[in-house]
Amino acid sequence: MFGLFSRVAVAFSYAAYSTAAILVATTMTETADVVIIGSGIVGSSVAYHLTEQGCTNVLVIEREAHQGKGSTGKSMGGVRAQFSTPVNIEMSRYSIDFFSRFDEVVGHPADYRAHGYLFCATNERHLEYLKANRERQIALGVKNVELVSREDIVKFVPQLRVDDIVGGTFCQSDGFVDPHSVMMGFMLKARERGARLWLDTQVTGIEVEGSQSVRLSSPSLRLSSSSLRLERALMPPYSGTKPASNSIQRRVAGVMTSRGLVSTRIVVNAAGPWAAEVARLAGAELPVEPLRRQLVPTEPFDGLPQRFPMVIDMSTGFHFRREGKGILLAWNDPEETPGFKTDFDPAFIEKILTRAASRVPSLAEAEVNPRRAWAGLYEMTPDHHAIIGPAPDIAGLYFVNGFSGHGVMHSPASGRITADLILHGRSDLIDAEQLNVDRFASGRLLEETAVL
Ligand SMILES: Cc1cc2nc3c(=O)[nH]c(=O)nc-3n(C[C@H](O)[C@H](O)[C@H](O)COP(=O)(O)OP(=O)(O)OC[C@H]3O[C@@H](n4cnc5c(N)ncnc54)[C@H](O)[C@@H]3O)c2cc1C
Repeated sequence: MFGLFSRVAVAFSYAAYSTAAILVATTMTETADVVIIGSGIVGSSVAYHLTEQGCTNVLVIEREAHQGKGSTGKSMGGVRAQFSTPVNIEMSRYSIDFFSRFDEVVGHPADYRAHGYLFCATNERHLEYLKANRERQIALGVKNVELVSREDIVKFVPQLRVDDIVGGTFCQSDGFVDPHSVMMGFMLKARERGARLWLDTQVTGIEVEGSQSVRLSSPSLRLSSSSLRLERALMPPYSGTKPASNSIQRRVAGVMTSRGLVSTRIVVNAAGPWAAEVARLAGAELPVEPLRRQLVPTEPFDGLPQRFPMVIDMSTGFHFRREGKGILLAWNDPEETPGFKTDFDPAFIEKILTRAASRVPSLAEAEVNPRRAWAGLYEMTPDHHAIIGPAPDIAGLYFVNGFSGHGVMHSPASGRITADLILHGRSDLIDAEQLNVDRFASGRLLEETAVL
């Protein structure tokens, strides 16, 4: 274990830890080079990419009895390179190429369907925005983004009301994947290479040396509001500044779980919408908020083509795609407020059907069964970009969080970048520094406006 551990911890000084490691090891029964908290698509991808690079003593800890009970199982499965910021475009380019080879490389189906994304602009400002994004996308190697006219758009979806559409963009390699299958593929391969997955196991504390560790009173308890209050009291407020130079260097020593302690030097927070709670277990602050997102499938509907792209009406943000025999309807309700709300609100149906019928009049006839509609949680950051990289003042703690609605499509890139950072301290995929949580403190925000 120690040979591999020293390789894993290249970014750190192993010698500085050795004494503490022995002390910790004497009281702990389980050890892992890397512990990943959360087995959704992101945690699974991190496990896959670590094991691919030879780091196989990896333990993934999931509190649910099955994988996919978090946001991954609620996703619409959309993948696209049509973003506005270079970092999102680069992550998509890598990820979509990965999805196109997934079945062969991972040995499990991703169900990648290159049906495209079709953005429809209803005013010149939106069209100019799409054109500027397209220039950036092409410059970054996504060469197949096309400008399309109203007439082209009608050919894709003849039933669309286009009287106010002034044009748009279409990218054929955008499309859909099966998020559950991708997650399973990543995890099965990681396990084949030696990674372990503990289901039904909650992480209740993160042991941090050099400071008072924050732990829930009983490892078998779930997070309670009273224990969260305790953690907040112990934790310094998120000041937006780096720790003072004379502050004690804190470092990860292990995790407390409902199965007992696990000794580790590296913890990856892949807890999706619960990421801020998990960060607090180490006394760290992470600006990630859960935001409810609702999807409405129609009953079988043949008033639209059997195959067509994801269509985005930029006037309202309403978008839709085919899902089996029906149509999957999506819209970002601006009245939604942050919180752990996962119940579907039946009042949403009327709101979304109004937008749907306005763009596709025939959808007014579509039948909807509210019991088949669902809600899940986006993990939002203030600038709608992921947070990937080491925690600023706790050595060995890594974040891979806050995908703001893009965690499925960016899962190959985020797993690869996180593994690179852990094993090599840098990634040649992107300049990972720009996704570090430090950006909020230093005002280097990356505003993504192409959020659906
Ligand atoms: C309705 C909806 C539609 C979406 N559509 C798209 C889309 O089209 N394209 C796209 O790219 N993205 C989409 N997303 C976003 C995407 O689903 C997420 O970004 C992605 O699934 C995040 O994956 P994850 O692995 O980080 O989180 P999750 O899948 O939520 O996994 C986190 C896991 O951590 C576990 N966990 C949390 N705390 C603990 C703990 N203390 N101990 C142990 N385990 C813990 C949870 O049980 C959970 O299984 C959508 C999301 C929603 C809700």
